[in-house]
Amino acid sequence: MAENLLAGLQAELDERAANGLLRKRRLLETAQTAHIMVDGQQVLSFCSNDYLDLANHPQLITAMQDAVAKSGVGSGASHLITGHHQYHQQLEEVLATFVGLPAALLFSTGYMANLGVVSALVGRGDEIFADRLNHASLNDAAVLSRATLNRYPHNDLVALEGMLKASKVPRKLVMVDAVFSMDGDLAPVPELLTLCEQYNAWLLLDDAHGFGILGKQGRGVLSHFKMASPHIIYMATLGKAVGAFGAFVAGDAVLIEYLLQQARTYIYTTASPPALSATVLAALKIIKQDEARRVHLKQLIDYLKSNLHLKSWQLTESQTAIQPLIVGSNEAALSLSEYLLTLGILVPAIRPPTVPKGTARLRISLSAAHNFDDIKCLIDALRSAEREMA
Ligand code: PMP
Repeated sequence: MAENLLAGLQAELDERAANGLLRKRRLLETAQTAHIMVDGQQVLSFCSNDYLDLANHPQLITAMQDAVAKSGVGSGASHLITGHHQYHQQLEEVLATFVGLPAALLFSTGYMANLGVVSALVGRGDEIFADRLNHASLNDAAVLSRATLNRYPHNDLVALEGMLKASKVPRKLVMVDAVFSMDGDLAPVPELLTLCEQYNAWLLLDDAHGFGILGKQGRGVLSHFKMASPHIIYMATLGKAVGAFGAFVAGDAVLIEYLLQQARTYIYTTASPPALSATVLAALKIIKQDEARRVHLKQLIDYLKSNLHLKSWQLTESQTAIQPLIVGSNEAALSLSEYLLTLGILVPAIRPPTVPKGTARLRISLSAAHNFDDIKCLIDALRSAEREMA
């Protein structure tokens, strides 16, 4: 009998492979930075979300080692039992102040934060309004919550307002990537907030790709747009620009207390290692003080955008470290990625369902770890790919 079950799975895997959709993992043999060793090959990588080159920073390594020596490697329990360490508490206070909101709550991952927040705040009979290009964790959170999910076309405020106007339910939640993870563009956050205030809805901002980068001292999208409102639920992750791991939600103190009581992905899970929070505290000091990292990253982005002009494949309007090169078909995106790898350059091909059908792309991700020669190398390789393949 089990053979039938496995045969069913194998048939699906075969179909995926036939459609160019099979994903595979690469084996990383060095620390995360621009020049890495994967699958036995030395490559120049444009894959990482370690935008500020902190994942391998000596001060973070020392902070983690020192904190492990004091607090051990594991938290031993959930936050509401005995897992809530003083490093966690200190980090929550620092994060809230940093983003300019009254309170914050740590979650193990951004995925869990989104699931926890959405399912705590809305349920059956409530309505969610979501951008079509939102991250998968927000979509999954909507399904878990059992609220009705209304998806509007990307950044289409008119469509969103029509949906909010038509909605009769008292509890409404608008949720959006502040920086879209596969497109790199920004959501029209101030306009979204105006709509949320007008229609009395929550606004959940997922700033996974803006925190550490946008705004004064990298304080994130709220600082970038100089915004504050009790309608805002701010979520950011700590595994991207911060270089470590984890996530937090910030907002009004009542909201945070409610999440502490109700968010199941907060309550029913082991607290992250306390030393991780000590590491993030060290990262935040660098993020605040070291403007040069953001300036360098911005210069790399500008250099790529002003020098990469291809006939076959186009960059988008994105001004952030996420620079998608739209290719089209799954096969063409994969072939391009494979060709670059033969030249020692690693750029991932992103295919549906992660992005809409027909928009398979290379997701070029820039980091302060790169230098101008690295970007030039990528540009030359893409020009050569165009000559050979297009
Ligand atoms: N939101 C967005 C927009 C993301 O890009 C990601 C990570 N890919 C997440 C949430 C999930 O965060 P984490 O990796 O911490 O689970």
